[in-house]
Amino acid sequence: MSKSKPQSGQRRRARTRLVHAGRDPFEQFGFVNTPIYRGSTVLQPTLADLEARHGKRFIYGTLGTPTTEALEKAWSEIAGAAGTVLASSGLAAITVALLTAVKAGDHVLVTDSAYLPTRTFCDVFLARMGVETSYYDPLIGGGIAALMRPNTKAVLVEAPGSQSFEMQDVPAIAEAAHARGACVIMDNTWATPLFFPPHERGVDLAIEAGTKYLSGHSDLLLGLVSANEQWLKPLRQTFNLFAMCAGPDDVFLALRGLRTMDLRLREAERQGFALAEWLKRRPEVSRVLHPGLEDDPGHAIWKRDFLGASGLFSVILKPVPRAALAALLDGLELFGMGYSWGGYESLVIPFDCRSYRTATTWAPEGPALRFSVGLEDIEDLTADLEQGFRRMRTGA
Ligand SMILES: *Cc1c(COP(=O)(O)O)cnc(C)c1O
Repeated sequence: MSKSKPQSGQRRRARTRLVHAGRDPFEQFGFVNTPIYRGSTVLQPTLADLEARHGKRFIYGTLGTPTTEALEKAWSEIAGAAGTVLASSGLAAITVALLTAVKAGDHVLVTDSAYLPTRTFCDVFLARMGVETSYYDPLIGGGIAALMRPNTKAVLVEAPGSQSFEMQDVPAIAEAAHARGACVIMDNTWATPLFFPPHERGVDLAIEAGTKYLSGHSDLLLGLVSANEQWLKPLRQTFNLFAMCAGPDDVFLALRGLRTMDLRLREAERQGFALAEWLKRRPEVSRVLHPGLEDDPGHAIWKRDFLGASGLFSVILKPVPRAALAALLDGLELFGMGYSWGGYESLVIPFDCRSYRTATTWAPEGPALRFSVGLEDIEDLTADLEQGFRRMRTGA
């Protein structure tokens, strides 16, 4: 293997990039992986070196280490971004993106389908800073132009919403936002850059909760914000002011997860479709919310803009009493009940958007369940649910 970096200048395919991006073994004595650098202090040999901060690769632990640099570089390459910052959680990444784009007196537009803690941050913290938030119908598309005010500085999209799975027309929203000079922020956790290249589709700041598919093993907390050329400098400035940096162990685990992310996502897609199709045929299920299914209202946009679907989707059950729902969920042997998703293990969680939606009405006919399909055999997963539906019918 050549010691020099590839010179061919060829833009390789996503799978190849996942394997090679951000690695420079011969900087690490030939070891394949960049190790965990733990460190606050970075020593400088001379006064002149100490004073010449500008352009220095490493200055202080909060500003980066070889470990964080490896993931930042790799993610930027995969996301088609000018640069990336690594925050301590997905939610921290969302806050740093929003705070990059707004100041007191500004207005932000947030999709009504946004991740609930994003809403809470806007309603509590942005409000305290004097930034007003309005929520909009996720299906608004280019119609968002009518909601833009002179002081609208950011538009936040999430496609699809991670509970309700409405698909958003990101390019149309981005075009309208850019026409008025607003920053387009996307929570791209569901698709990841492998299935939705955010910056190619008009997103300025793209968020990934690395806690989910980048980890793939439910064992770390990490948030990434990638930026296009225009937004990289302000993003870095804001990020450095907070120094909400990710820990070295989590970054190392994320680098490890990165190498197999394409394989895991494609399997999650395959398993997700299989489980969604099975659930669709069940008499207990009223609707499946999965934009990859042909009869889903978001399917046309998904097909146009996305390169795949991950393994997270929801279903609406026909109305059943709470006790019957509990009988279904409490006895499951393979599906765990808990927050987060994107790990190797299957999860299911009930949810209800009714209490917080403001721009749209969430009125499902029965209980809503969100599934994160794992790597178990699909026959075993459907058998577990089959038993659950039997308990739901019989109450035992
Ligand atoms: C989990 C999640 C986040 C937050 O990630 P954390 O690392 O748990 O803070 C953000 N957005 C979406 C869509 C998520 O599912």
